Amino acid sequence: MFMEKNNSIGVIGAGIQGISNALFLQKKGFKVTLFDKDQPGSPVASYGNAGHFSPYASLSLNRTDVLADVPAMLLSSTGPLALKWNYVPKMIPWFVKFILNTSKNKMMHTAKNMHQILDLALPAYDELFDEIDLEGLVENKGILYIWNDKDLKSRELEISVRNELGVKQQLVNKKEIHDLEPNIKPFYHAGVYYPYARHARNPKKILLKFFDLFLKKGGKFLKTNVKNVEYNNEKPVLKTDDSKFTFDKIVIACGAFSKKLTDNLDEKIPLDTERGYHVHFKNCDHLLSRPVIFSNRGFGITPMEQGLRVVGTVEFGGLENPLSKSRIKNLINNAKYMLGDLPEHEDEWLGFRPTLPDFLPVMGPSKNHKNIFYCFGHHHLGWTLGPISGKIVSGMIAKENTNLNLEPYSSSRFS
Ligand SMILES: Cc1cc2nc3c(=O)[nH]c(=O)nc-3n(C[C@H](O)[C@H](O)[C@H](O)COP(=O)(O)OP(=O)(O)OC[C@H]3O[C@@H](n4cnc5c(N)ncnc54)[C@H](O)[C@@H]3O)c2cc1C
Repeated sequence: MFMEKNNSIGVIGAGIQGISNALFLQKKGFKVTLFDKDQPGSPVASYGNAGHFSPYASLSLNRTDVLADVPAMLLSSTGPLALKWNYVPKMIPWFVKFILNTSKNKMMHTAKNMHQILDLALPAYDELFDEIDLEGLVENKGILYIWNDKDLKSRELEISVRNELGVKQQLVNKKEIHDLEPNIKPFYHAGVYYPYARHARNPKKILLKFFDLFLKKGGKFLKTNVKNVEYNNEKPVLKTDDSKFTFDKIVIACGAFSKKLTDNLDEKIPLDTERGYHVHFKNCDHLLSRPVIFSNRGFGITPMEQGLRVVGTVEFGGLENPLSKSRIKNLINNAKYMLGDLPEHEDEWLGFRPTLPDFLPVMGPSKNHKNIFYCFGHHHLGWTLGPISGKIVSGMIAKENTNLNLEPYSSSRFS
């Protein structure tokens, strides 16, 4: 066991998943080197997300009601869904697998296994927060969802699945919504409030505080693009443009970019991306006390240090296509629908949610190489699930016992 703990571990990716893995590995006594092609805090998903810590969000998008709504959502200019048509042919295999995962059984399989880890997400964050000075970067004011009287079947399904899983939820009426958030225009009919949910005032600053903690504890960081992972006598070797690094074990935590590396390891994991967007309305964060999501239009607004961060869209278009101006317009129009007049927006941002067609992450050893571990594919919930995923994967590397059922997250489910 002592030998195991002295192992050197390379972690690829310094988003919330990679940094959380690195920190929990350090807690367990491992020597860790973190690699990223950019400086931590660069504008990847872990920087630009909506900042929700959402331990309640067990029900994912692999559902028949969502599937049935796809044509209407694609035609609507206010809706959340968009396509880059040049990418559709490449995504067909992913879509087929997604459709096969929308049955009631598969939906519940995902919901139960998301619930298993979401339920542990906040305590895992607190283990890391205990070691940094948060300086007001996390608010404990809950998260509010609101809706109108359309698509009520979807809302009923969400409420009943969460009830079945034992997720605490507080249904709220018009007056209660108004009392919580008086500046929202009264287009809503009802909603649900999660008082125990939290939000980040600035995800980038939190990430950088974690990164500083990692360095303070003796962690090494190398800013370099990892091109490939190879093997030398059972030991994984990371290849960059000009160097090779041998470790006892490595963790691939490159979010939506992980597929390039896993393809090279002869494992065909159907990872793709749901592209999402944000804009900021500077100096307007006083208009909301907490994140508010308008369920019918699939967008939300979070009060942050940068102002109001308006976040939304699921766009299928891969990693290479440029930002869509129409999606930015969609966010601006939706924000004005919710709050009325707003000043000129700033900071048009596109980010990549890493998503598997069954909406479960991949966590655990590679199917083909026991010294390579994966931690990616946390789709809409990767910010919430960073520390718990790091705790789980580091526990696997340290060969700790667990009473969690980790099989559903294994990459071998795709073979
Ligand atoms: C619009 C939007 C809103 C969201 N809102 C929320 C939310 O409110 N709550 C929530 O829980 N989740 C949210 N998410 C999801 C969440 O942001 C992601 O799931 C999460 O950030 C993924 O983290 P990651 O570390 O896996 O990937 P990333 O943040 O993408 O980080 C991956 C890192 O790997 C590096 N990298 C990639 N390839 C290489 C390579 N070959 N060599 C070296 N480095 C490499 C990249 O530079 C990057 O730093 C949102 C996502 C989006 C897009």
